[in-house]
Amino acid sequence: MGIRPRVTVVGSLNMDISVTVPSLPGPGMTVLGSAARFSPGGKGANQAVAAARLGAEVRMVGCVGEDAFGRQLLADQQAERVSTEHLRVAPGTPTGLAMIAVDGAGENLIIVAPGANHLLSPADVAAAQATPADVLVVSAEIPVPAIRSALARPPEVLCILNLAPVPADGANVIAGFADRLDWLVVNESEAAALLGAQAPRQAQAQTQAQAQAPLQRAAQAAAALARTAARHVVVTAGAHGAALADLEGTHTIPGFKVHAVDTVGAGDTFVGALAVALAVGLPTPDAVRAAAAAGAAAVTRPGAQAAMPTPADILSITGLKWPKF
Ligand code: ADP
Repeated sequence: MGIRPRVTVVGSLNMDISVTVPSLPGPGMTVLGSAARFSPGGKGANQAVAAARLGAEVRMVGCVGEDAFGRQLLADQQAERVSTEHLRVAPGTPTGLAMIAVDGAGENLIIVAPGANHLLSPADVAAAQATPADVLVVSAEIPVPAIRSALARPPEVLCILNLAPVPADGANVIAGFADRLDWLVVNESEAAALLGAQAPRQAQAQTQAQAQAPLQRAAQAAAALARTAARHVVVTAGAHGAALADLEGTHTIPGFKVHAVDTVGAGDTFVGALAVALAVGLPTPDAVRAAAAAGAAAVTRPGAQAAMPTPADILSITGLKWPKF
């Protein structure tokens, strides 16, 4: 094996607490559910694990509380060989939590308590930037100043911004960075939220696109965002695949046909895999295709981090050969 690609992930870490319920409770209701399941999550932590399983040298930048969940999340990252040197343990604030109820039809209700994730500061991010990386991945379950500090990285570091969830002032987060933002990755609803905040002409194009097939709609949204937001824009569209727009034009990457059992974490797997594929120098449409294969492989197994594939898994599930390095 040659030199491993170096990926730095700036983002959230949460303990996911999931309960299966017969039906989702309404306001004021109590329902009895299954035993609680505890699993490591948070978009940042998930993306770090996805990239590490694909062979990258990964560094996670984030913040957990000084409590049992924080210690568990730290240990989980270390078990995946993710460097936790830049994970801050903050006393006096609980670790981030996601409380998830899922009913028999797979419909869910999620409450996130960000806790220590909201303490991640520009200074934490700047400290981590001193360690070199090939690709920087930034997601949005952290404060906007920390996101903006990450985007102001050294110019040689390729950056993927996964603007998920879209902050209230989504367009403002990236304002001023468009010429320096290499990749923006969002799903369809995040793209719509971002475009809704943009100029009326683009918003209108989005409305006209509603009637189209999902992948064409994603391509149109990606093209609209590529005009203002980033050099390369990917809009993911679940089982349908993903669309890429850049200076060369627009590409659609159809989804790999798989038997999906749990789609939680598909987007995070896609982003982590895209980081590794770009770090090893795959041409852009090939890198997006490789990321789509990783996302497809992840949905064939239950869980978020538990389902994230190795190169061997991707080959056996989708037939795509992950690049060697
Ligand atoms: P998010 O989880 O952020 O909403 P998506 O659901 O769009 O993201 O999934 C990300 C990517 O994972 C998709 O672009 C696709 O390539 C892959 N993917 C997701 N769900 C499936 C599926 N059911 N079958 C095949 N590929 C999938």
